[in-house]
Amino acid sequence: MLALQDPALFKTQGLIGGQWQTARDQQTFAVFNPATAAHLADVASLGADETMAAITAAAAALPAWRALPAQARGERLQVWSRLLQQHAADLAQIMTAEQGKPIAEALGEIRYAASFLDWFAEEGKRTYGEVIPSPAADRRLLTLKQPIGVCAAITPWNFPAAMITRKVAPALAAGCTIIVKPAEQTPLTALALAELAQRAGLPPGVLNVITGEAAVIGATLTASPLVRKLSFTGSTEIGRLLMQQSAPTIKKLSLELGGNAPFIVFDDADVAAAVQGAIQSKYRNAGQTCVCANRLFVQAGIYDQFAEAFAAQASRLRVGPGTDPQTQVGPLIDAAALEKVEQHVSQALDQGAQLMTGGHRLATEAGYFYAPTVLRDATPDMQCAREETFGPVAPLIRFHSEEEVIAWANDSEYGLASYLYSQSLARVFRVAEALEYGMVGVNTGLISNEVAPFGGIKQSGLGREGSHHGIDEYLELKYLCLGL
Ligand code: ADP
Repeated sequence: MLALQDPALFKTQGLIGGQWQTARDQQTFAVFNPATAAHLADVASLGADETMAAITAAAAALPAWRALPAQARGERLQVWSRLLQQHAADLAQIMTAEQGKPIAEALGEIRYAASFLDWFAEEGKRTYGEVIPSPAADRRLLTLKQPIGVCAAITPWNFPAAMITRKVAPALAAGCTIIVKPAEQTPLTALALAELAQRAGLPPGVLNVITGEAAVIGATLTASPLVRKLSFTGSTEIGRLLMQQSAPTIKKLSLELGGNAPFIVFDDADVAAAVQGAIQSKYRNAGQTCVCANRLFVQAGIYDQFAEAFAAQASRLRVGPGTDPQTQVGPLIDAAALEKVEQHVSQALDQGAQLMTGGHRLATEAGYFYAPTVLRDATPDMQCAREETFGPVAPLIRFHSEEEVIAWANDSEYGLASYLYSQSLARVFRVAEALEYGMVGVNTGLISNEVAPFGGIKQSGLGREGSHHGIDEYLELKYLCLGL
């Protein structure tokens, strides 16, 4: 059991129309701690009926919520943000227990989650329309931005708080109401956030949280014509499925899907800075972020120097339970994640990669720990360079020319984050423009914040989250033509 200062944050029921609800058939599903494999909670397994009830509640709450001035909606979001910050220690404890990340990273994520509430509380006030110079003397043309209506959000386990507020904050600020389906591995953080939203005074039905069977809930949300918009963060495979399921009702979609981020270090880079950036980009959240460096391309002239320094730092990272303040790398989310990492490493070694550090589970722990791993002499055709490993494994690939590395980096169906290190301004612009990615980190391994547009191209998704663009995903543009 967790020792929370405020035990009422530990919720195991769904939230529908302002009421906490168990499943009608009393079904639950178990949540486990990935650091110990211990059972944490049994959470309501809600199905199609409860999802329909949440859609009805969100639709009923919509007229009054969208009629409020943006200022009033923003004030609720700001109160919610302050509650997140006041309860950050408890929220981080819940997050680390179900997700595994080190407690410092969990606290950082709560701050990041709150930043979306504050940002969109303000952006809601800036959803300007425009007056368009008319082509005819007897016409005046204007545009209005209006909330799209009832929205749905399906979120992943790797950022159990921030992926929710990044969708809910712009939706609510725009005047929409929403139903959230959190990942089954991490419902407790989502429910704790919902409890604080209740305390912040969100009217019943404005925010609903449905925990349970993903396929059933997803099918019900996508089939409903009342749901006008779906925002999803998760795998490309499920994104494709949800896009298909949304086709009959022509829903507006935001999809933030998988990545295969290249991390490119040129001969003219500051090698020490590149090593540090690569460590941050690769091993944060044990390599389980969609913007984590997945393949590291290092130019021949500095390859050995980079590889030695990088492997030395990776081998010094402290792996352990997220509750230990010394821990830098926590467990993977579950046994399947661990098996995928093992498979990628063994396949790379079979094909000629060399192990510099790591390459094994941590036998001393009951949970799903894998040692930070560095593979040198990897090649672009290895599985670990073609698929998202989502674990603490860094394949180092040697390249010779700029043209070669751009071609390798772009040879992917994904296009989310990319990184490059160089001290040449001309090269930075040349390569950043040539990379087919939605985001490019230049001389940095950390790019996410609430003020910048986050999102991918190609099969990494549709739409942008965060920034002043993020709220447009929840607005419709209406054109008014006024005859005089
Ligand atoms: P991951 O492999 O990282 O868990 P998923 O895409 O499977 O990524 O999961 C992301 C989110 O999508 C989670 O909330 C999960 O429950 C949900 N999900 C999984 N399958 C479906 C589905 N068939 N329909 C709707 N949501 C789904």
